[in-house]
Amino acid sequence: MSNHEKMVLTGNQGIARGFYEAGGLLAASYPGSPTVEILDSIKDYEEVYAEFSTSEKVAFEVAIGGSFAGVRSMASMKHVGVNIAADPLMSFTQTKTNGGFVLLTGEDPGMASSQNEQDNRILGKFANMGIVAPGDSQEAIDYTKAAFDLSEEYHLPMMVNITSRVCHSRTPVVLGERKEVEPRVFEKDVERYCMIPPHTHPLQHSMKDRIDKLKEFAYDSELNTFEEGEDKDTLIVTSGLLYHNLKELDLNLSIYKLGMVYPLSPKRLQELSQKFKRIIVIEELMPVIETEIKMMGIECEGKKYFSFTGELHTEDIEEGLKKAGVITERTTTDRAPVDSVKRTPLFCAGCPHRPIFDILKKLRKRVIGDIGCYSMAMFEPFQASDSIISMGATVGITKGMTKANALTGKSEPLVSVIGDGTMFHSGLPGFVNLLHQENETDNMTFIVLDNRTTAMTGGQATAASGNYTSADDMHVDIKTFIQAIGHENVVEVDQFDYEATKKVITEETNKPGISFIIAKRPCALKFKIQENTFYVNPNVCIGCRNCIKTNCPPIRMKKYHNIDKLKSSIDPSMCAGCSVCAQVCPVDAIQPKGQHPDHSKKGSAKYKRQEYQKMKLNNEDQNEDPK
Ligand code: SF4
Ligand code: SF4
Repeated sequence: MSNHEKMVLTGNQGIARGFYEAGGLLAASYPGSPTVEILDSIKDYEEVYAEFSTSEKVAFEVAIGGSFAGVRSMASMKHVGVNIAADPLMSFTQTKTNGGFVLLTGEDPGMASSQNEQDNRILGKFANMGIVAPGDSQEAIDYTKAAFDLSEEYHLPMMVNITSRVCHSRTPVVLGERKEVEPRVFEKDVERYCMIPPHTHPLQHSMKDRIDKLKEFAYDSELNTFEEGEDKDTLIVTSGLLYHNLKELDLNLSIYKLGMVYPLSPKRLQELSQKFKRIIVIEELMPVIETEIKMMGIECEGKKYFSFTGELHTEDIEEGLKKAGVITERTTTDRAPVDSVKRTPLFCAGCPHRPIFDILKKLRKRVIGDIGCYSMAMFEPFQASDSIISMGATVGITKGMTKANALTGKSEPLVSVIGDGTMFHSGLPGFVNLLHQENETDNMTFIVLDNRTTAMTGGQATAASGNYTSADDMHVDIKTFIQAIGHENVVEVDQFDYEATKKVITEETNKPGISFIIAKRPCALKFKIQENTFYVNPNVCIGCRNCIKTNCPPIRMKKYHNIDKLKSSIDPSMCAGCSVCAQVCPVDAIQPKGQHPDHSKKGSAKYKRQEYQKMKLNNEDQNEDPK
């Protein structure tokens, strides 16, 4: 991409470009929608160090290190990731930033891909950060650059607060030049960088002073713009994408558009309030700007006309303005609900998680789930997860439920499932915690689903990806790691060996104590695994649907020519050749392509597993790198 070139970028690409043009040198992140593409895009700039860390807290700390060392640094994450990073965040904002520091947070109004909806402007204010909120891709570039400049000028970490709609929509931008920023020197200054009393007391005051200076900057900053319209009674205060949604209504209103949403300039708002009879704030989620203005003693309205949840589309804004009496007629109609076919999310063909959940369902185990693509186990047909709260929470919840059951005289073996990425992210402290207060009545089985990737966010590496990806070759052996903590009972299984895995899960969940099962199969989608495909012989199939219940997308019941009853079939273009369906078929109707059922071989599940192992070995010989 050359300078001054016009192009169309997503908001996420705009943030990445802004980081590059600002002279950013270090970026760290943990993958999460809607912001995952920011770091993926930054990785394309060779001048920059960029890493997906094991959690948002670690990413934030890596970026703190970059700033301490004097370079422009950014940590990017989805909104809930900031909760994980909140501990270092709340202390770091007390220090005077050395190299410019930006925390990028991606909000998800409407929760398209998140477990909750939270407004991180509140966290930014809580942490005493300046906050800018871009509304399109050009602003994503410009505001990121401005945030780095402000961070260095005012020695404050800045928050760039972006919403999922802006992250993913594409708008035109003009590319600028990269500014080479001379790294600042890190000088020993314990009063500035060591967050212990008595240093923290004066730093609290200096942090507030720095925010007050930023209020002065906000007074006539180009980030905040005032447009005088024909309506001289009402002033609309808004920011980000909502400004563009409002402009679509072509209402000729007076608008104060905030690029910097925190802090606001009290002086500026006092002046504006003198000119207008009413101030109406339009903002998504929480009434953050509205509350700030009210705290200045200035009357304003907002949330009573607009929803506190979800996105505010142009139609919602128009409806709110009509409720407020700013307009009398509407030109748009309410958004018609999108008439889409309801589809339950599915595990992919050949997904190594499916046999695990099929087994857990058949064994009727209570399963405490976690965040990752395996969260889909809560849906039909598995319905095998009883709880999903937040990243890594399964471990503590499982322990808490076990202890509560013991206190109330109940006894129930609990199974906890956690992905490899989630385990490294925030499951490990829970694993250590299990060793406190362990007693012989505990019966907890932790299944680590090691598919060598964070599949849900597009296949970024995990600490265990190791030789599966050359891009990031850290290789932590999960079994060794868990044993090193002090857990003795750790078993590895190949979950494509269905019967053996079922036997291990049955044994481990039945015996008392804490056990770990590591299910080791790489993600079929990420590593494009397609071994020999399987087919159904309809003349042998008895239509029992055992294979269908494994929930693999290529399998369906269909009508064959000259056969009355519905029989199973497999779409070969989708089959990844994992053999699980063949292993659950009671009559050997499912066979590897190119082979014909040999019904003389009784006990054929074993036979098929042997065939499958042979096939796998052949494949590994032919292609050692499963990418
Ligand atoms: S072998 Fe069966 S379970 Fe495995 S991917 Fe093919 S159809 Fe799905
Ligand atoms: S499990 Fe076997 S017999 Fe049953 S429907 Fe599937 S292919 Fe047919």
